[in-house]
Amino acid sequence: MTDFIIDSHCHLDMPDFDKDRQQVLKNARKAGVHGFVIPGTTAGRWNKVLKIARNAEDIWPALGLHPYYCNDHTETELEQLAAQIAREPPVAIGEIGLDLFLPQLDEAKQRFYLEAQLDMAREFDLPVILHIRKANDPMLQLLRNHPVKGGICHAFSGSLQHAHKFIDMGFCLGFGGMLTYERSRKLRQLAKNLPLTALLLETDAPDMSGEKHRYQRNSPEYLPEVLDVLEKLRAESRERIAHQTTLNLQQLLGLEIPGFH
Ligand SMILES: [Zn+2]
Repeated sequence: MTDFIIDSHCHLDMPDFDKDRQQVLKNARKAGVHGFVIPGTTAGRWNKVLKIARNAEDIWPALGLHPYYCNDHTETELEQLAAQIAREPPVAIGEIGLDLFLPQLDEAKQRFYLEAQLDMAREFDLPVILHIRKANDPMLQLLRNHPVKGGICHAFSGSLQHAHKFIDMGFCLGFGGMLTYERSRKLRQLAKNLPLTALLLETDAPDMSGEKHRYQRNSPEYLPEVLDVLEKLRAESRERIAHQTTLNLQQLLGLEIPGFH
């Protein structure tokens, strides 16, 4: 029997998948990946995200302005985002966030777009998908000042205390390829000890490749390898972990998942 799992974060709209997107989806479904959330990154890519999601019942779009591209975003695009959400609501606002690891990203600009999009999420009663790098404490503070209903801390990395603070604010934590590396000891401890109701599976494809696919394009086809690690780390059965992480995502984003009971 194959798994029934969902990739809560994969950038299938990226050009990396232009040549073989349908084949990748086919392979992933065969491997037990029965759903895909595609987060938005720039206004210029929203249409592609929406188009890919419109063509399949098991693909869901999120829309947002990613902090990596904060130098390219404009205030007009925030208005366009609100208009697009009103027309055709995505499952979440994302990928939005704060990246204090890359020095070339202007922090004030990042904060400007993040705060605006957090407020938008509250206005539209939508969850958010957060990108947080070296910024757990500032993000928690931002969420206190700009409260939202909850969402996903994608590719979570932080302390157990950070994790619990996000969980208390209605967030689930995404774990992906990094977990497959033996040296990710801290991350593995977290994935082992956090409540199963707080965990999500993700790949962040085409980035964040796992150990077996180092230096290659990451793909939702490899999501079962994240489940392999969780199965080894945790006390629950593989089926239980697959079911609960799928249920977590379903409840968080209000998804209708074909074939999931
Ligand atoms: Zn991402």
